[in-house]
Amino acid sequence: MSLNSALKIRQDLESKLSCSTNDSEQLEHIVTFCQRHYYDVHKDAILFIKKGLQIAEQLQQEKENNILKTYQAFHLWHDQKIEPAKELASSILPYLLENKCYRELGLAVIVIALIEWSKGNLENAFNVVNRTLYDLHNKRNKNEAVARLNWALGTFYFDLGSLGRSMSCYQKCERLSPETDDLSLDLYTKIGYSSIYKKKGDFDKAIPILNEVLTKCKDFNMWMIESRALFELGSIYLTLHKLEEARYVLEKSCQIRKENKALPAVVSCLEMLATISMEKNSFNDARDQLKEAIQICEKNGLKGKLSSVMRINARFEESQNNFELALESFKKHMTLETELTMMERENRNQYLKLNFQAKKIQEDNYKQRTLNRELKSALNQARELSDLKSRFVSVTSHQFRTPLAIIQSNTDLVNMASEKSSDTIKPLLNKATKRIRKEIGNMVELMDDILILGRISEGNSLSLKKQSTDLVEFCEGIVAEFDEIHNNGLEIEFEVAGTQKEMPIDRKLIHHALVNLLSNALKYSIDTNPILRLEFDNTSVLLKVIDKGIGIPASDMPNLFQPFQRAGNVGAIKGTGLGLSISKEYVELHGGTMKVESKLNEGSTFTIALPV
Ligand code: ADP
Repeated sequence: MSLNSALKIRQDLESKLSCSTNDSEQLEHIVTFCQRHYYDVHKDAILFIKKGLQIAEQLQQEKENNILKTYQAFHLWHDQKIEPAKELASSILPYLLENKCYRELGLAVIVIALIEWSKGNLENAFNVVNRTLYDLHNKRNKNEAVARLNWALGTFYFDLGSLGRSMSCYQKCERLSPETDDLSLDLYTKIGYSSIYKKKGDFDKAIPILNEVLTKCKDFNMWMIESRALFELGSIYLTLHKLEEARYVLEKSCQIRKENKALPAVVSCLEMLATISMEKNSFNDARDQLKEAIQICEKNGLKGKLSSVMRINARFEESQNNFELALESFKKHMTLETELTMMERENRNQYLKLNFQAKKIQEDNYKQRTLNRELKSALNQARELSDLKSRFVSVTSHQFRTPLAIIQSNTDLVNMASEKSSDTIKPLLNKATKRIRKEIGNMVELMDDILILGRISEGNSLSLKKQSTDLVEFCEGIVAEFDEIHNNGLEIEFEVAGTQKEMPIDRKLIHHALVNLLSNALKYSIDTNPILRLEFDNTSVLLKVIDKGIGIPASDMPNLFQPFQRAGNVGAIKGTGLGLSISKEYVELHGGTMKVESKLNEGSTFTIALPV
């Protein structure tokens, strides 16, 4: 695309706009135009942006409005309207991030960061870029923005003399930039590389890169890039003492910059041109060039530039034997330099501070990684231990059964033998065997509980065998089982509320849970009958086991459903602390919940809620 092509692009857009009567279609054309051509059809873009903004405002299109504002900020910056550009770009950042306009986000951040950098606010510049990179972490489709931000970091590090870091930022930008269709970014990155090579004295690498940039620029209307590449080339030629080549490219660069009112850049060209003129003994040219440079600096308050122009001016006056003027220029240069060095020192301090912070973050990350590794290995150890425990529990539980069965059968033998023994010994033996049998029963129950718990804690889910069940009948059956056992003279009272309905449950598991709650209620009560209350409503069925027993201390409540937990007030009442945890698991397998309310010495209510 040549300048004519740029014209063609503009005409294309104009004809698209005049063909379309639909406002939102026009807006779409303008947004696409800006996204593709913001850097090459510069002047036209500004006019179209204004038109687009008007339409976006009329149609209340917030997204398009913010996108166009990004390009507006970019052009304000290009036109040296620094403060308005920064203000506008800062105001739209949150919207762009939130609404995933990452392409524009990257551009707006570059505008802000480069403005801050040019004002010497290094920390602000780094912060806005790094902050955005952080915000984009884990986001999708962010590469365009990340490429741009890395380019900005590349220029910062270059200015700070960290060539290695600068190079790796440019490389990252280049890796990601195929995903962007932003040619200016690609060319600026190339200029970045050439500057690094130039600084390293590797001119053979720098020159071809700059020529490549210039060839591409020829086809595009990108004055900023073209003039910068020419300038870089000029400074290399000057170093190589190729004065004619240097003068030729620098004059070209200077002219482009003048046309576009890029004043600090014009001064840089004039300085170098004056140096060349002096080398060639063209003193009149040198005088004119220096005079022009000084005027621009003084008129525009460019202190940094003025300092270096004064140094060259001192050399010039000296070459003309005007020692008084030379001294005056040199003194001016020194005064400005002291002022600037102080500013620079401050910047350098800030840079070191940032560098330190970056290193610290790196170190913290390393520590975090080490910690994670340690945690992982601790977790593996814990897992192995738990596996070992589960295997141990299941093996020993099985192994216990055999001796228990032998004890059981031998007890039966003793029982039989007792029939033939004397009347005094017989009741004693019967009592002993009865106790042995009871304890064997307890042991078997304990083994069963431990086995179940082992399976649950290993994560082996138990499969449910649900059957539609009349819950009233089911509960009545359980209550009847308790009637047959001697329960300290207490019995269970059964109540039903609500309209009863059938429920699909795994009878074995719910039976186990309910029996456990009821036997606890009896075990921990003294003289009042516990109640089993069945409540039906539309969304759930509640099975409440209510007792007026010893209750549970508040401090034991939080861990009550953990295996082997027993409350502090159980005294001599026997138990293992396993029943509740297993019952809760069974209920939860049904998608239900188990809760407890209790007051010490007043009683407890355990509620199983099953979803209908
Ligand atoms: P345990 O075999 O000890 O009864 P559970 O797991 O069934 O084991 O109960 C755990 C603990 O909860 C009991 O040791 C007891 O302290 C307390 N607990 C359970 N039910 C009641 C209740 N109805 N009244 C008072 N305390 C209870």
